[in-house]
Amino acid sequence: MPVLNRIADFAPEMTAWRRHLHQHPELALDCPQTAAFVAERLREFGVDEIHEGLAQTGLVAIINGQGPGPTIGLRADMDALPLQEITGADHASTIPGRMHACGHDGHTTMLLGAARYLAETRNFRGRVALIFQPGEEHGGGAEVMVREGVMERFDIGQVYALHNVPGVPVGQFHTCPGPIMAAADTFSVQITGRGGHGAYPHETRDPVMAACGIVQALQTIVSRSHNPIDDLVLSVTQIHTGSADNIIPNTAWINGTVRTFDKAVQSMVRTRMAEIVAGQATSYGVAAELDYELGYPPTINDPGKTEFAVGVASEIAGEAGVRADAGVEMGAEDFAYMLEQRPGSYLFVGNGDTAGLHHPAYDFCDETAPYGASFFARLVERAQPL
Ligand SMILES: [Zn+2]
Ligand SMILES: [Zn+2]
Repeated sequence: MPVLNRIADFAPEMTAWRRHLHQHPELALDCPQTAAFVAERLREFGVDEIHEGLAQTGLVAIINGQGPGPTIGLRADMDALPLQEITGADHASTIPGRMHACGHDGHTTMLLGAARYLAETRNFRGRVALIFQPGEEHGGGAEVMVREGVMERFDIGQVYALHNVPGVPVGQFHTCPGPIMAAADTFSVQITGRGGHGAYPHETRDPVMAACGIVQALQTIVSRSHNPIDDLVLSVTQIHTGSADNIIPNTAWINGTVRTFDKAVQSMVRTRMAEIVAGQATSYGVAAELDYELGYPPTINDPGKTEFAVGVASEIAGEAGVRADAGVEMGAEDFAYMLEQRPGSYLFVGNGDTAGLHHPAYDFCDETAPYGASFFARLVERAQPL
C-alpha cells in the first residue's frame, strides 16, 4: 500500500501549506507566525488539545484515539536558516537573508497532514502527541522542550521523527538501528604570543607558528589516538590572525568542529585536545587557551523501534524502497535529546534529485509530503491498534 488514499485526497492542500511556510521562514526559537499557522490548521482539524508556548514558540497537540492506551510522540521541526534563497520559485522566501533550506517547512507539513488524517479517522487507541518544535538549527528547541518536561507532561512512551534527504528517490526511506547522526561539538583555541617586527622573529613568540603546529598536531587525534574502525571527524575550520606582511601578530585564534557517535570517543578527544594544545603552547613558547563546547549529542535509534518503523515504511514505500542499514551521517540533529529520554527512531525520507540541504537552491519536494504523512499516520495505527 503506498500513500494513504485519504491523505492523497488533500495532498494539494498540503502543498499550499508547505509553500505558505516556505514564503515566511522564521529562525531559531523565534517562530511565532509558523506556530500560529500550525495551531490554526490543528484547530480546523479538530484535534483535542493544543498546548502552546513550549520552547518559546513550540506547540504540542493531542489527538485521542478510541479507548485507553499509551501516548506516542511524533515530532517535526519548524525553523529556517539565515541564508539568501536563489531558487527563483514562485513560492520563494519573502524575507531577504532567510530561507527554509533544510526542508523543515516540509517536515511541519507532513506532521500536519498526519494530524488531519488521525483527527478524522482515529483508528488507534491511546493518544498521539504531535510535537512541533522551533530551534532545530539554532537554539536546541528539542533540548529546551525536554528540560521543560515535555515527555512527562504528556506521558509520551516513544518518539519518532522524519528528515528529508536530497539524492534519495521521493517516497523512499532510509534509516539504521543505533547511532544515525553525530554529536556535534565546537572548539576554539586562543593563542597569545608576543608580536613584533616581521624581520626580527627571534625577538617574538610567534602565534602563527604555534597555530600551524596546533592544527597539524590535532589531526593526530584522529589518525593516532583513535580506532580507525570507528567514526570520528575533527575539522579546524577557521584560523584568524595578523594584519600586515611585516608584523608578527600578538595573538591567533583557531576554531573548528568535532563529530562523534560515542561518549567515550568524545571524552578521549577532549582529553587529547587539551594535552596537545598545552604541549604545543609550551614548545612554541606561547600561551594557549582551549574552549571546548559540547553541542547536540549523538542521535541513537532504538533497534526495536527502528525495526518497527522500517516495517511501517515498507508498507508505504515497498520493501525495495526502504534501506534499514543506511549507515551514519556526520550531521547532527537535536531530536537526539528526545531519543535520550524515550525509545524511538529517526528516519530519512527521499526528497528526490534536489540541491543539498543548507544550499541556497534547495527546496523541499512537495511530492514527498504525502509519503511522510502516511508514514506517521500508519505508525500510530500500527503502534497502538484498536
Ligand atoms: Zn539543517
Ligand atoms: Zn534539518
